[in-house]
Amino acid sequence: MHNKTIKELSTLLHSKQISSTELTRHYLDRIAASQHNAFLHVDVDLSLAQAKAADARLAEGSAGPLTGIPIAHKDIFVTKGWRSTAASKMLGNYVSPFDATVVTKFGDAGMVTLGKLNCDEFAMGSSNENSAFGSVKNPWDLLAVPGGSSGGSAAAIAARLAPAATGTDTGGSIRQPAAFCGITGIKPTYGRVSRFGMIAFASSLDQGGPMARTAEDCALLLNEMVGFDERDSTSLTPEQGNAREDFTRDLNQPLNGLRIGVPKEYFGEGLAADVEQAVRAALDQFVKLGATLVEFSLPKTSLSIPVYYIIAPAEASSNLSRFDGVRYGYRTPEYKDLQDMYKKTRAEGFGKEVQRRIMVGTYVLCHGYYDAYYVQAQKIRRLIADDFQAAFKDHCDVIMGPVAPTVAWDLGAKSDDPVANYLADIFTLSTSLAGLPGMSIPVGFGAGEKNAKRPVGLQIIGNYFAEAKLLNIAHQYQQATDWHTRAPEGV
Ligand code: GLN
Repeated sequence: MHNKTIKELSTLLHSKQISSTELTRHYLDRIAASQHNAFLHVDVDLSLAQAKAADARLAEGSAGPLTGIPIAHKDIFVTKGWRSTAASKMLGNYVSPFDATVVTKFGDAGMVTLGKLNCDEFAMGSSNENSAFGSVKNPWDLLAVPGGSSGGSAAAIAARLAPAATGTDTGGSIRQPAAFCGITGIKPTYGRVSRFGMIAFASSLDQGGPMARTAEDCALLLNEMVGFDERDSTSLTPEQGNAREDFTRDLNQPLNGLRIGVPKEYFGEGLAADVEQAVRAALDQFVKLGATLVEFSLPKTSLSIPVYYIIAPAEASSNLSRFDGVRYGYRTPEYKDLQDMYKKTRAEGFGKEVQRRIMVGTYVLCHGYYDAYYVQAQKIRRLIADDFQAAFKDHCDVIMGPVAPTVAWDLGAKSDDPVANYLADIFTLSTSLAGLPGMSIPVGFGAGEKNAKRPVGLQIIGNYFAEAKLLNIAHQYQQATDWHTRAPEGV
């Protein structure tokens, strides 16, 4: 049952061959027996009550395509029933009085929440090792990281603990863990999915998106996710192009004539040979499907790292100022006065990486450095976005390349080296800075004894609002290949 796609499960639910209650129980049992530390909060009674309601809708004929399908949420989305912690001690016992818009939308569609998924603390990280609740293990190789920050989401899907999950992507956190765990994920155009109730990291970059095993499943999920939300000040309106649409409509379009841009900078020094080989093989497959490859240049790719690691911490330092021990979350037990309470609460409640970003962010925003760092970074951000626009105008319909320079690394290998983690974001950051949609699909495995089980992801980047096109391209690839159907051993 757990090897079925959402699309297949939906058919079984609608034809009454299975019930949502059975399906939900099946996944809850798998979660209880799992060793990946992917889930942080589970509530069997709450999930089964939702499943029962879904079964009632299925029985009375008011069900939609996702009714009764279980989904798990990254613990960045707040949920009324389950704790919402952002994988931080700061919010260790926090229960939100409301649901995030995304959670509400999936609830309205009749989906059943399985629980909350581990991630890097406040979504800051690339390996899920920054979680206050321990790292997640990669289902393909328990010695490897699952990627981050949506590592719990990707691992849960790869281990068949959930058929669907939400993720958030600020600088690659949907695409990179999807790549490391061999699943499919899409980060939509910035502003298409509501950020309301998504615990904020860097508001001008944060974007929620779906993660599943296939592009078709991601399309079904995205159908429910997108749309204007007046409670999110940067939510795009229908007039700006953010109308709801059926993302499955173009899945079966042939790829004849598709121009795929292949940026030189994504294949240079630093790209591991095994990743390059799998990505190039995927590009060849697209040529067989009728596409043409166009080499071109994204000259500012390397600048995306310094730019992102100025802008994201700057916004984080502001967003995280609300965690002060007064309003909600953790408060230090002993303190002399208010200043001391703030200091101790934040020193004890936040992990190392979060503290590092708050310090960097505060530094680049302070008077005297603001122009030198923050304003400069904003200017380069614009130039990075302009490079993409020039590419889409002159060279190609979509861009393809690796998601990350290597396959998943060993747990612990980079945990004391923040810069090594930052460098691994090189291929995902510029898409986020430009606000473009990007997707990751599994296209093979690493080479060599150690890496042979670790998946490789292909990144597909499109212009604004090109989600349906990305999903079409990914679906056509998945019709022609079977990487997306592979399961880790013992699953
Ligand atoms: N790895 C990047 C970071 O650490 C991206 C994280 C994300 O997309 N949430 O900031």
